[in-house]
Amino acid sequence: MSTQEHPLGISFEFFPPNTDVGREKLMHTRDALSERKPHFFSVTYGAGGSTQARTINTVKQISESGITTAPHFSCVGSDKGELRELLSMYRERGVDSLVALRGDLPSGMGGMGELRYANELVEFIRAETGDHFEIAVAAYPESHPQAPSFDKDLENFARKMRAGANLAITQYFFNADAYFNFVDRVRGLGIEAPIVPGIMPITNYTKLARFSDACGADIPRWIRKQLEAYGDDKESIEAFGEEVISRLCQRLLEGGAPGLHFYTLNQAAPSLRVIDNLS
Ligand code: FAD
Repeated sequence: MSTQEHPLGISFEFFPPNTDVGREKLMHTRDALSERKPHFFSVTYGAGGSTQARTINTVKQISESGITTAPHFSCVGSDKGELRELLSMYRERGVDSLVALRGDLPSGMGGMGELRYANELVEFIRAETGDHFEIAVAAYPESHPQAPSFDKDLENFARKMRAGANLAITQYFFNADAYFNFVDRVRGLGIEAPIVPGIMPITNYTKLARFSDACGADIPRWIRKQLEAYGDDKESIEAFGEEVISRLCQRLLEGGAPGLHFYTLNQAAPSLRVIDNLS
């Protein structure tokens, strides 16, 4: 994750499309975003093996841009042998960055796997491949939904950084103070690695609300009320979303955030509009 650098240190996340139309659209998105010289691209990985092949194929297509492309690499539902094989395959293909995650098991799918938490996965990757991979892990400024407390989650976060992660990317959030507080607390534990805010552009209220419920991201009341008031008025939702997210990003950068990681949902325009608003 260290080749071409945009002055802002931006990066973009994609999910593996499951149709030909989706794949073609993603190539256009990749090309539009490549022009901004991102720090890296990343490609999500549906836990439980459901989209492993798709992640691998998408990583291949995205990396043809010449920009570092990091597969998300989750351990839930996998044994060490499977993880080892996947690591060798990525290595052989020239992949040198990973986003290491525990992941979530889709309901009704098999056992948890041999590694229980992301810190064990980071340890495993380091034990198997030394310093070959640059490793990013997930951070939760508003706490992981399953964490018993903020403090416990912070300890667990510190554990995976100490296991050998190089940087962290946060779950998205809309309250900049949650990020600044999290970074302060992490620094208090002696961890100095970059913690890059994850940014979710706002384009669709219903989807955002559903997703935020599942991942524990808080939508502040004033944002929720305003988005609800717009109903089906897509144009107003997008304009309001652009303003809110641009202001959030500006504040994060002014407060010292080392970059911005955009959850693109495979669309270029919403992230680009925000980036163009930043001074
Ligand atoms: P962990 O760091 O293992 O934490 C999970 C929970 O366990 C937390 O509550 C933590 O406090 C607790 N915990 C951690 N370590 C220990 C320990 N040693 N002992 C006791 N408790 C512990 N999901 C996907 O399925 N695919 C993706 O591609 C994907 N990409 C993501 C990218 C980013 C940037 C982020 C922020 C999330 C992503 N997720 C993805 C979601 C993620 O998989 C879920 O949030 C998952 O529930 C936790 O994964 P983790 O790696 O953060 O887990």
